[in-house]
Amino acid sequence: MVELYDKEKGGGLHPSDSFLHPEIFPTVWCPGCGIGTTAYTLFEAIKEAGILKKDMRIVSGIGCTGKIAECVRFKSYSITNGKVVDFAIQLKHKNPGLKVCVFLNNADILLSGAEQLIEAGKKSENLIVIFINNFIYAVSKDKAFPLTPFMRKSAGSEFELPFNIPGMAIYSGADFVARWTPMQAGWMKDSFLEAFSLTGLAVIEVISPCLIYEANSGRILDAVDRIKFYNDNSEIKFRAKGENLDIRLQKKIITGKFKIPEDID
Ligand code: SF4
Repeated sequence: MVELYDKEKGGGLHPSDSFLHPEIFPTVWCPGCGIGTTAYTLFEAIKEAGILKKDMRIVSGIGCTGKIAECVRFKSYSITNGKVVDFAIQLKHKNPGLKVCVFLNNADILLSGAEQLIEAGKKSENLIVIFINNFIYAVSKDKAFPLTPFMRKSAGSEFELPFNIPGMAIYSGADFVARWTPMQAGWMKDSFLEAFSLTGLAVIEVISPCLIYEANSGRILDAVDRIKFYNDNSEIKFRAKGENLDIRLQKKIITGKFKIPEDID
């Protein structure tokens, strides 16, 4: 196994060593998973923006996405009671000088967090929400969410169909809304930088297909092909309207910046 962290030197073998706990290697994330790409892109944006680690906070929920809070070397919070956004809002209110970055997956939003996110948009809460959409809606092998009509592994064998979270964010009043795939990491970093400079709610969706889920069924492609599939089937359209971001209704996944405040346009 390649050593990514030099314990004697206290790090230094990977550009993101200073952001990650050495004991997390090998990471919980599968090679090629978009969560790792998103985390690395965020670290690059933090460095470029000159934000000190002491001024940064990560709040995350459950599942693979939720693991980010355990991995980073700055203060972070793992919230497993479904109130991830509420916790982040309280944290920000108590410490206005902090940059608070929230990682959510489908479970965190659709199971319990949609209302909190809509309220955060209405009140223009000063948060950066990174929504990792890996199209997984099941909370266990056999059970899907109680409230979402879109699921994998359902009793009726429905195909997974994603909910339009960026559209919801736009209509709830979020100040900055974007969507990218892991292959668009350069654009993603720009969006993180813009979100750092913003006063208000930024919601950035990352379409990050799970490389492992149902890998043996033959219904999905291998890691590289699967990422390529999502890249080939996405199209950048800036300022696309919220209703046009519904993946169920489009031939291609629309990515880009959809809501852009004038001062960062
Ligand atoms: S590829 Fe799937 S199982 Fe692996 S870390 Fe990513 S979301 Fe989790």
